[in-house]
Order: sequence, then structure tokens, then C-alpha cells
Amino acid sequence: MYRSHTNGELNSEHINQEVVLSGWVQKVRDKGFMIWADLRDRYGITQLIFDEERTPAVMMEDAKKLGREFVIQVKGTVIERESKNPNLPTGDIEILVKELTILNEAKTPPFTIEDETDGGEDLRMKYRYLDIRRNPVKNKLIFRHKVAMEVRNFLSSEGFIEVETPYLIKSTPEGARDFVVPSRMNGGQFYALPQSPQTFKQLLMVGGMDKYFQIVKCFRDEDLRADRQPEFTQIDCELAFVDQEDILNIFENLTRHLLQKINNVSVDKFPRMTYDDALRLYGNDKPDIRFGMEFGELNEVAQHKEFKVFNDAELVVGIAVPGGASYSRKEIDKLINWVKRPQVGALGMVYAKYNEDGSFKSSVDKFYDEEDLKHWAEKTKAQPGDLICVLSGDTNKVRVQLSALRMEMAERLGLRKADDFAPLWVVDFPLLEWDEETERYHAMHHPFTSPKPGQIPLLATDPAAVKANAYDLVLNGNEIGGGSIRIHDKATQAQMFDYLGFTEEEAKAQFGFLMDAFQYGAPPHGGLAFGLDRLVAILGGQETIRDFIAFPKNNAGRDVMIDAPAPIDEQQLKELRLSVVKTKE
Ligand code: ASP
Repeated sequence: MYRSHTNGELNSEHINQEVVLSGWVQKVRDKGFMIWADLRDRYGITQLIFDEERTPAVMMEDAKKLGREFVIQVKGTVIERESKNPNLPTGDIEILVKELTILNEAKTPPFTIEDETDGGEDLRMKYRYLDIRRNPVKNKLIFRHKVAMEVRNFLSSEGFIEVETPYLIKSTPEGARDFVVPSRMNGGQFYALPQSPQTFKQLLMVGGMDKYFQIVKCFRDEDLRADRQPEFTQIDCELAFVDQEDILNIFENLTRHLLQKINNVSVDKFPRMTYDDALRLYGNDKPDIRFGMEFGELNEVAQHKEFKVFNDAELVVGIAVPGGASYSRKEIDKLINWVKRPQVGALGMVYAKYNEDGSFKSSVDKFYDEEDLKHWAEKTKAQPGDLICVLSGDTNKVRVQLSALRMEMAERLGLRKADDFAPLWVVDFPLLEWDEETERYHAMHHPFTSPKPGQIPLLATDPAAVKANAYDLVLNGNEIGGGSIRIHDKATQAQMFDYLGFTEEEAKAQFGFLMDAFQYGAPPHGGLAFGLDRLVAILGGQETIRDFIAFPKNNAGRDVMIDAPAPIDEQQLKELRLSVVKTKE
């Protein structure tokens, strides 16, 4: 028996009991005649004591040899501690050691295994197994497990069945590049790793499984922005014989269940907002609604004066920054420089101070009088004391820029509180999205998404106006889930591929299996997927997903611990009938 108890378990109720403990040596304090060691495992820390009077001399010698992170086993008696530590669950007791076994020695770790460590990110990633011994990382993995269990419990109780789908498949278009895997047995041919189990879950619906879910890895080869991982985890779901309303209700309940169980927070019915409104009011299809600062469009009240910049703009739009009227000239100049940074890209910013006394002072007083500025205040819902910040230009660009400013100001004003949860359904997404690069339409969600009933004829005349039965769940400004009602008949699916620029042959080669299946009694169906990593991070009150992943990759998509990706040897290449062409960088 390696242990009778864990290191987080013993307290004054166990005094005088004989116990066996195992774990890692956190630290040793050697006073010569007395040695204390902290023994650590996943559950906590227990103090061990060796003392000259009560401990045999040989064991004192062994105890002196203990180093950080040695793995040891001890047998001993639980005794009352002289100086108690009220901050530790085991702080009232210590173990008078009677037998000490060194199970394994350890090299001195390259960083301290403490909550506050001296190790930088890169070093900790290289020795991730040591990092996982630290509470902040360990607790996040435990937290993730709890969330995943609650997801499984909830969906199971709702009648969902978890079904595994294959990883070696054919491309599923979710808007990224595929990771491909060469097939040795089928030389010159490749599997693609799933960007999601999309087509398989639809086939499960044709197979009559009716309520499916899977906590599943997805793989997308895309340029890694901060906090994206090339492999990530989805809670993937699909249901048959449902409409959009059914789906929104079930997954709203799941999210509510998680917020209740994990965060002890009750949330009322989730608000819903159309995609168009989200863009109009927040410049963003995943608005953070924990705070106001809604956009006020000013075209009506700011154009047709003498100010050419606004007159020439497609959109003039502003937000009211709470308390901003007190900003100094210097602070405002800094803000203007902030929106002009290339990352934001605005050409400039017009501002109007709505002073506490009700007067206005703007950067465009030459063109606008108090009466005009009052209208600006009405449109942006500004209160006395606020600063109205106005951007103008091309609608899409200006919205993105003002959204960036809105988020920045909220951050500076402390309005993005991690323990405040504001979920939101964004609905009625456009079916298609114009791609400047390829100069054609792409499916905004994916090509299996169904247009809203009755909108198919519009595809021929005004494709950009066609709305889809597609929805996203947004939490605190992050898209945590998204899905759609699917097309379930062959003719519409074929038509959709045609609109998306697939030839009949291409569509058949890539998705023939799905269209075939649709001929054998496909039920109406729809679903969605949550991003588990991000959901867990948000519920855990953090911005970054990396710590919630046991073995994450870095920004270059590398696992620095196992050093992957890596070249493969000649023999393997030969078997795969591949050769690597070296190109100059
Ligand atoms: N497969 C979709 C995605 O990964 C989710 C869905 O439509 O269910 O975003």
C-alpha cells in the first residue's frame, strides 16, 4: 500500500493514527536536530517531522538527503502541531515519521513549483509536467473536468447519446485549412483531420440517432492568433425533428445549468439579437453586453453641415464614454492616437465633451453648435460628464474600429468583470459572405446551413440579403457556440453547392456521400457546437484558454515539450511514397 490517506486529508481528528503517505517533497527545513518536510500531492500538503530525539539516526541522515520534488513514502503517526497553520486544511497536524522510503530522486526542477513561480512561459511549456504540479495549472485542469462532467450529465439527462466519430476523414469545410495525413496503404492519398464532425453528425441523424453529442477534438490549420490552438475541443451536438427554437432552448438550459453548477450564478432568459442589430449597435457579431456604450448612428444629425469628412462618409457613428468629459486634452490626444494605431486603423476621431453643467465642447465646434451636439448626445445616449467619441468612413470598417474603441474603454473603466455573466443569442446570420480575395460568396457558417424558409429565390437575385437559420451563443463578448438548422434534402444541398461555386463533379467528389444519404429519408435536423476550451476559460474567469489545456501548443503551433512537428525519416517517407521538396524561405 503506497498510501492510506492523501496529503490534503488529515486533521486533528486523525491524531494518534498511524498513516502511510506518498508524494513529492515540496520543501525541507533542516534545523539540524529537527527536520521538517512538506509532502505534496494533488490533494494538498502535509507536514512531516523528523526529530533527533524521536527519529533513529539513520533516518535523520536519509531525511537530510531529501531534495525538492523527491518522490517519497512515509509511515508515521499523526500528531498535533506546535505552531499551527490556519491557512492549511492539514495545518493543525504533522506526521512524526517512523519509516521513510525514497521512491525516486529528482533533479532540481528548472523553476519553482509554487503558485507564484519564477519560471517563464516558454520554460514552463517545455516542462509542462512540472507546471501541472502547480496549483494554478492543476486546478484549471480539475475545473475543466468538472465542466465537462456537468455537460455530460446534463446532455445525458436530456436523452443525448455520446457517439464517437472518426478522425481520419475527408475534408469538412469549416473555413480553415485541413491538416492532412498521408495514407501508407493507399499511396498518394490523404485523410483530412476533421475541422469538426459536421458531416458525421448529420449522417447520425439520417441514422436515426436523433440526439447526439460528443466532446471531441477538432483540427484547423489556420494562422494562429493569440489564444487559438490548432487542435481544440468542441461540445458537438445535433438533433433531429427540431426547429431553431428547440435548439436555442436546450442549449440555453445547458449554459444556465453550467453557470448555476459551476459559478453559482442564476441567469434569466438569454436575450436575443439579430446579427444586423449586433453590428448596428455594437459593430460586432459577438457583442459584450455586460456594459452599455451602444453605438449611436449620427448620419442624420451630423451630415449636410459644412464638415466634409462626415459628409463624405458612409457611416458616422459614436459612443458615449462614461465620465470621459473630464479627460484632459493630453488624454484625449492619446485616445486619438490609440484609434489611429494600425491595429485599429481609424483615420482620426472627432469628440464632444458633454460637460457636467450641460454645456458641450467639441473638436468640431466650427461646424456644430450646442443644438447639434445635443442631438449627438441623444443618439449616443450620452449623459452629462460623458465623452462622445465619433468615427466615420466605410460602414464595415468604422464599425470594427469603434467596436475596438468600445472594448478598450470598457477595459480601462473596469466594466469587463470576470464574475459578471452576460449571455446572448445572436440570430439570423446571413447565409453567405462575400470573400474579397476569391471574389465569390462563401457560406458564412458552413455549406450545410439552411436558408430561412422562403428565402431560396433571393439567392438568385440578392444573395447577400439571404438570412440563414444560424445562431451563435455569445458570452461576455466571446462566441462560445454556434450552429444552424441544416439543409436535409438533396436538391437544396446541390443548389447550395452550386451557389458556392462547386461544380457538380466537385460537389459529388467531396460530399456525394452526404447527398446520397439525403435520398434515404433524412429527417429535418440541426445542431450546434460549443468551444469547450473557451467556455471553460470564461467560466473560470480567465481570458486565455492555454492554461485549461493540459498540453497546449505555442503561437507557432509547436509543442515545445515533445518538439513537434518534426521531420520524419527517409524510410517513413518512402513507405508513404512522399518526398519533401526543400524550398527557400
Ligand atoms: N460544425 C459547426 C462548427 O464547428 C457547428 C455546427 O454547425 O453545429 O462551428
